[in-house]
Amino acid sequence: MTAEQFADRHIGPGPDDERRMLDAVGYASIDELMDAAIPEVIRWHGRLDLPPPATEPEALAELRALAARNTVAVSMIGLGYHGTHTPAVIRRNVFENPAWYTAYTPYQPEISQGRLEALLNFQTMVSDLTGLVTANASMLDEGTAAAEAMTLARRASKHGSRVYVVDADALPQTIAVIVGRAEPLGIEVRVLDLDVEPLPAEFFGLHLQYPGASGAVRDHAPLVEAAHAVGALVTVAADLLALALLRPPGEIGADIAAGTTQRFGVPMGFGGPHAGYLAVRAGLERMLPGRLVGVSRDAAGAAAYRLALQTREQHIRREKATSNICTAQVLLAVMAGMYAVYHGPDGLREIAARTHRLAARLAAGLRAGGVDVADVAFFDTVTARVPGRAAEVVAEARRRGVNLRLVDADRVGVSCDETTTVEQLAVVWAAFGVDGVNGEVPEALPAGLARTSDFLTHPVFRAHRSETAMLRYLRRLADVDYALDRGMIPLGSCTMKLNATTEMEPVSWAEFAHIHPLAPAEQTAGYRELVGQLEGWLAEVTGYDAVSVQPNAGSQGELAGLLAIRAWHRSRGERHRDVCLIPSSAHGTNAASAVMAGMRVVVVGCDDDGNVDLVDLDAKIDAHRDTLAAIMVTYPSTHGVYETGIASLCAKVHDAGGQVYVDGANLNALVGFARPGRFGADVSHLNLHKTFCIPHGGGGPGVGPVAVRSHLAPFLPGDPAGAPVDGRPAIAAARYGSAGILPIPWAYLRMMGADGLARATGVAVLAANYVAARLREHFPVLYAGNKGLVAHECILDLRPVTKATGVSVDDVAKRLIDYGFHAPTMSFPVAGTLMVEPTESEDLAELDRFCDAMIAIRAEIDKVGSGEWPAGDNPLANAPHTAAMVGGDDWPHPYPRSVGAWPAGVSRVGKYWPPVRRVDGGYGDRNLVCSCPSPQAYES
Ligand SMILES: *Cc1c(COP(=O)(O)O)cnc(C)c1O
Repeated sequence: MTAEQFADRHIGPGPDDERRMLDAVGYASIDELMDAAIPEVIRWHGRLDLPPPATEPEALAELRALAARNTVAVSMIGLGYHGTHTPAVIRRNVFENPAWYTAYTPYQPEISQGRLEALLNFQTMVSDLTGLVTANASMLDEGTAAAEAMTLARRASKHGSRVYVVDADALPQTIAVIVGRAEPLGIEVRVLDLDVEPLPAEFFGLHLQYPGASGAVRDHAPLVEAAHAVGALVTVAADLLALALLRPPGEIGADIAAGTTQRFGVPMGFGGPHAGYLAVRAGLERMLPGRLVGVSRDAAGAAAYRLALQTREQHIRREKATSNICTAQVLLAVMAGMYAVYHGPDGLREIAARTHRLAARLAAGLRAGGVDVADVAFFDTVTARVPGRAAEVVAEARRRGVNLRLVDADRVGVSCDETTTVEQLAVVWAAFGVDGVNGEVPEALPAGLARTSDFLTHPVFRAHRSETAMLRYLRRLADVDYALDRGMIPLGSCTMKLNATTEMEPVSWAEFAHIHPLAPAEQTAGYRELVGQLEGWLAEVTGYDAVSVQPNAGSQGELAGLLAIRAWHRSRGERHRDVCLIPSSAHGTNAASAVMAGMRVVVVGCDDDGNVDLVDLDAKIDAHRDTLAAIMVTYPSTHGVYETGIASLCAKVHDAGGQVYVDGANLNALVGFARPGRFGADVSHLNLHKTFCIPHGGGGPGVGPVAVRSHLAPFLPGDPAGAPVDGRPAIAAARYGSAGILPIPWAYLRMMGADGLARATGVAVLAANYVAARLREHFPVLYAGNKGLVAHECILDLRPVTKATGVSVDDVAKRLIDYGFHAPTMSFPVAGTLMVEPTESEDLAELDRFCDAMIAIRAEIDKVGSGEWPAGDNPLANAPHTAAMVGGDDWPHPYPRSVGAWPAGVSRVGKYWPPVRRVDGGYGDRNLVCSCPSPQAYES
């Protein structure tokens, strides 16, 4: 028997399926189809230079070998990354459970109630702990959350000042990210030692760290008051575990709190992914970026969750955008929220108190041995002075298996956490050359800052103390959600393909999970080799010269790429180039990123075929020739078409001195057949959570590497922990961003190999064309390119049927739930349409099940159109149908219950039942409730 090829598992259709699909599309082979679909100007006829594909066991063995070159040491470095025990019930049933990790962003609330409830728990946890009324779910990391807080403060402050003050005791990587984001926006950051330096006379915002990076716990109330006195807003970057014991930011008057929830059960992962958080006081909630879960009601008046204040994202509004965050860190937010559910308020208080006691004991032992420990209040982190000896102490601790923080030549930082043991304290004492102390010592928290308010009072944080209860809670929530483990999620632009178990497994291994981002280089050789190989393979796949995996979402890759363009223009003395052309069909993040990169957005129209309007492009280039910085286009276009004009578009922009940014979110239509770095583009970001198999996790994590041609390589993201380098701002808080999930795309590339990847692309394009061919006579396919072919997705135009019958795209999307499907992408990029992306991973049976459902729905629409069913009361208008609805005693509808719940082709067994009827978004926006309401509130 030949060794089994992973590609045969990854790609859904087998040879027979392929033949039938090709017949339907009218081509003899995939090669012939691809030759016809892809314009010759961009077609690449080479073969990717990648290692021959490994089998699943081989890939795991190689990953084991890489993992073995990482060393799991005891981490007492701190700086926002801490050891934590992931409760095993959460690790196995959330982190390693496809019901949670393969879910999509909860834009369709009826099939997402489980993750929405979990995220509401997360928001409640953050809101309670910070003492601020509204928290979002979630941010990408602490650094970017702090940067978003800065821009929020600027929008909210009535102060015209450009000055933002940052506490010198803030986390270094936070300062690096804030500085990087401030510069293009014209914000002047002043980093001040607020213990000794006065606040400036004018500033619009103040960033404080609580506790400080040094460990010091200061009473920030006087600074908050001083800032408010001049009209500035205050952000407190707070450690949530410390807030179990310390007076929260909201109670000292902070306007905003920002930070990370990593130490709530999420492994360090060499820097990520973890959920950042952002919370605001009353009055700022409608300015909050990111996703906000809220409570609304369904068609029967029952309470139901959904994303609040946004058809998509309230803050991503083209040139008026205020943030570009799209993909967040949902899976990790769910874990952190569940950590709070698991431990409850008493458990968190106990973990915090124990952590503090250990730190107090550590300090007492150092002092008893004559070491100078800063005489300040602290929570978990101690800074010790050992003049001239710091490096020696750190090295000695490392020899003994413990990593400490080298602050400078004279100072060492030591952080305790949930995992710290008394034995580890003894190792630290020995490294300092002291004996330490036995037994308990007095606490070092300032009495005046002790927390007196309750938190996590909602019953959900008390009801799941036993593992049985916790397990069943997790199961209950997962059961009401629809994820890839139930069926196809044909979301255009989002590429919901297989997330293979072999790709996922290494993510839980200690050698990848339990590594601090600042661990010494000799402990991370395996990680760095993995990153190097992955960046090299991605460069090969895209045809670019250099890649950085630092950006932790597509949006962040966009910002990194545009900042590279900006820095390049500046390096050539062309500072005035600041216009970014963006086609009207672009994804919302594109314009938002351009605004954040300090560029002016100029929209280019599309022609009737959905292509970039080359006449309008010429006009816009002419109008902005001298100030043109870049064009940002998606390829294949967001319309799912291989535009033939791409090469001339690139040439025109280059002729005018601009750079070409190709949004690589649609790379699933190109891999192995065309390489943006070789067909004229200068820079792209990729979405590893789309094309390269990182699961969406219910809306994150993701990785958005930025790939550039050589002239832009000097401007790739800088190291947030290193000295600032001009033109190389840090994009994320950790050097390798969400390093912890990079084994996933590594394994995918390693197991697919050049031929497997190209075959995947071919089958993805075949599948989209198959769906288009089967559905075309029932719903017009909006755009097509060469020979009437689409790329890897197709847009079904519902506007004609909506016009004729009143049945909306929403009705069809919700009716698909009754048929057991997640709706395709709705109304993007064209309002009133559905964009279907089947991907290569769905087999023919599933593709046919989907097409059959769409055809059956079309027949239902006709019954509404003909008047057989009344417009307001039919299976489409009432969709989705819940079990409670069809099982109720009351059935006033003009069609049988069975037609509602089991339309043609839907199995009686294993049917997916949504837990709620159609959710009323507007009601929830008018009555905004974004943390767990009391149980009584659900009754009214
Ligand atoms: C998904 C997507 C993005 C944004 O990626 P995120 O990871 O969600 O930030 C940008 N452009 C296009 C075309 C996309 O489909």
